[in-house]
Amino acid sequence: MAGNAKFILVGSGLAGGLLAAYFGRRGYEVDLYERRADPRAGNFVGGRSINLALSTRGIHALRQLGIADEVMRHAIPMPGRMIHDKAGNLHFAPYDRDPNKHINSIGRAALNSTVIEAAQRYPNVRVMFNHLCTGVDLGRPVAHLVDTEKGQLALEARGDAVIGVDGAFSAVRQSMQKKLDRFVYDESYLAHGYKELTIPPGPDGGWRMEKHALHIWPRKSFMMIALPNPDGSFTCTLFWEFAGPRSFETTKTDDDVRRFFGEEFPDAVPLMPALLTDFRENPTGSLVTIRCAPWSYKDKAALVGDAAHAVVPFYGQGMNAAFEDCVVLDECLAEFPDNRERAFAEYFSRRKENTDALADLAVHNFIEMRDKTASKTFRAKKKLDHLLEGILPGVYLPLYTMISFTRIPYSTAARRARVQDQIVYASLAVVVLVFSLLILRLMIR
Ligand SMILES: Cc1cc2nc3c(=O)[nH]c(=O)nc-3n(C[C@H](O)[C@H](O)[C@H](O)COP(=O)(O)OP(=O)(O)OC[C@H]3O[C@@H](n4cnc5c(N)ncnc54)[C@H](O)[C@@H]3O)c2cc1C
Repeated sequence: MAGNAKFILVGSGLAGGLLAAYFGRRGYEVDLYERRADPRAGNFVGGRSINLALSTRGIHALRQLGIADEVMRHAIPMPGRMIHDKAGNLHFAPYDRDPNKHINSIGRAALNSTVIEAAQRYPNVRVMFNHLCTGVDLGRPVAHLVDTEKGQLALEARGDAVIGVDGAFSAVRQSMQKKLDRFVYDESYLAHGYKELTIPPGPDGGWRMEKHALHIWPRKSFMMIALPNPDGSFTCTLFWEFAGPRSFETTKTDDDVRRFFGEEFPDAVPLMPALLTDFRENPTGSLVTIRCAPWSYKDKAALVGDAAHAVVPFYGQGMNAAFEDCVVLDECLAEFPDNRERAFAEYFSRRKENTDALADLAVHNFIEMRDKTASKTFRAKKKLDHLLEGILPGVYLPLYTMISFTRIPYSTAARRARVQDQIVYASLAVVVLVFSLLILRLMIR
């Protein structure tokens, strides 16, 4: 089987392009179908964040294909968070005790184009744009497609297996849901939505805030963040309640927008000349966590990336995790070259626990970003984390470090962080107790 098995990939988003490159390198025949037009023709319609945070797991996946340097040339390092309080005061909080450790702001369109080009370097990979998948006949397996450029012409694409890399609202997953008895599916939405806004470059073409930072305006129940772009601009994202007394729903007029931003983000307003237009015209996106099981059907179909496990964006890990899926699926196919069903099952068992852990971490990190980053206790805990990491190198690793700067499996990282926290808090309690006893003894004397 191995070498020239034929895969039909549905979706050439971030993970689809990368997976096609991995499969191309392994010698498989790959037909990749994407409903949208070619992003390289300048008509990129991401529908999502314009830029993303790329970190160690994602970089590793790119490095395996020799395209990490190409991608990193366009990246802007962000070694920490720049916290903006309501008075306009700034506080920089590094992500790690090592100032060289950083996450990277990268443009979605550029990254998408790079992975598609990497795939197309293999003559055995073909990419077809403007092809919408309407469902999959899993038994054969065949993907039903519509060529949206040629007057809705219906087509069938047949291969040895169909891989759904078609994002959170995957058509391939829907077909699995219909076909598989006891398919587990769970989707949950946050009460918050998001809207993207822009801080354009300054008059000299430079960045109007610190370039090397992920900016956060934490406001307890909501927040705004901003990531730098190579052209001198920042893409801001407001995460805010859909409904409620102060929310997207109740903010209707330009005056409402002006008042809200003036009260909450006064230092950002003068940097956002198109605020009112952006707010009115840009869509309000929803934030969903999707869990499902299993991720495959026999040796005929499998799910990768958001199609298998969409997470909310607050750990900056959705794409990184999707890239890690590609590495693991490729490894499993190499380990079981003559048993694709086993390879798919193994891929699922190696990833599921980890992406479930990531889903929980991502929701939790929303609370940390929007609420706790502003507090002194939180900053003190971060300092303690970095201190312990220095005193106990290789033994104590802060959770953020494990998630963003290592490839320790997500579930192991989450467990290890819980144990570390218990030990630290217990030790602090002992120290406090000993001090109290000493003071008591001195007083009795
Ligand atoms: C606001 C926001 C900010 C984010 N920030 C980060 C971040 O900083 N770091 C990070 O790692 N992740 C981040 N993410 C998550 C990241 O965007 C996703 O995890 C990532 O895009 C998943 O890649 P994917 O290829 O699985 O899905 P997608 O990128 O969604 O790609 C799916 C592709 O399939 C195509 N498609 C869909 N349906 C069909 C169909 N029926 N037929 C044919 N084609 C189809 C789509 O057009 C698309 O091209 C963020 C997400 C959001 C919403």
